[in-house]
Amino acid sequence: RGLAIGIDIGGTKVAAGLVDASGRVLAEVRRSTPGQDPREVEQVIVELVRELSAEKHVWSVGIGAAGWMDLAGSRVLFSPHLAWRNEPLQANLERLLKRRVYLANDADGAAWAEWRFGAGAGESRLVCITLGTGIGGAMIMDGRLERGRFGVAGEFGHQIIMPQGRRCECGNRGCWEQYASGNALGREARELAEANSPVAQELLRSVDGRIPDITGAVVTRLALEGDRTAVELLGEVGEWLGLGLANLAAALDPGMFVIGGGLSDAGDLLLEPARRSFSKNLTGRGFRPEAKIERAALGPSAGMIGAADLSRVAARR
Ligand code: BGC
Ligand code: ZN
Repeated sequence: RGLAIGIDIGGTKVAAGLVDASGRVLAEVRRSTPGQDPREVEQVIVELVRELSAEKHVWSVGIGAAGWMDLAGSRVLFSPHLAWRNEPLQANLERLLKRRVYLANDADGAAWAEWRFGAGAGESRLVCITLGTGIGGAMIMDGRLERGRFGVAGEFGHQIIMPQGRRCECGNRGCWEQYASGNALGREARELAEANSPVAQELLRSVDGRIPDITGAVVTRLALEGDRTAVELLGEVGEWLGLGLANLAAALDPGMFVIGGGLSDAGDLLLEPARRSFSKNLTGRGFRPEAKIERAALGPSAGMIGAADLSRVAARR
């Protein structure tokens, strides 16, 4: 009873879970995100739902996707990392699955899960940031997901922190996610390896010399094993992270930031530099209470857990 399926669709992978009413993941399946065709993504979703719902009574299905949902939860307006452009995803999936489908932004799902079951439980002003292909953002204010006037609040990854900076998939330059995401970490590491720097030796060895295989996840693993260069690279990303969080604190004054997504696996190797940079860049520092910066308790599963739970809440209405 009360089982829901949550599907987290990111720039590189689709993760689906069968989740119970207390937020526990009972079964999980993953696929890589298919390329440029929205129909293929729909097919993957259908397969995953079939796999997880075989012989089970599933109450509801929630999608948490790396895209900008309209307020009604029926269309994906845009996605910097996926092929959706004003796509009626809810109707398409309901037709294919023959059941109700709830649509949310991936970071909205993660924030909801962390507030209900994780690190943000009980926090009245919670901001959640997910670090993966891009940077996702979401806010829970007084127990309510704050989605803005048109559904696209919380696109913090596209705050411009470097005018004339790196080009972003959203069309602008200098977006935060170009400096503080898992993608940014991988790109920095590849640049270092391409420069043939001796400090990149371990990085190169870990991928047998294949530079394109150096990803944010590879750097994170090496850093956790103690590789000094990988630790430094994570530290730089952490500094950018803290800077962006300071901007958000100036605007939103939350009690806590919860940091999730794949990159949060790095734990304090990322969060300590972020906390330092946050304190250094915070406006009014020393004269105001400071928000806590915590790692997501549900780790990279937060997105699927939240999407499942949001669908359960919606289905009850
Ligand atoms: C997108 C967001 C998404 C985030 C994380 C950003 O580039 O604009 O909608 O939540 O990536 O996937
Ligand atoms: Zn952008």
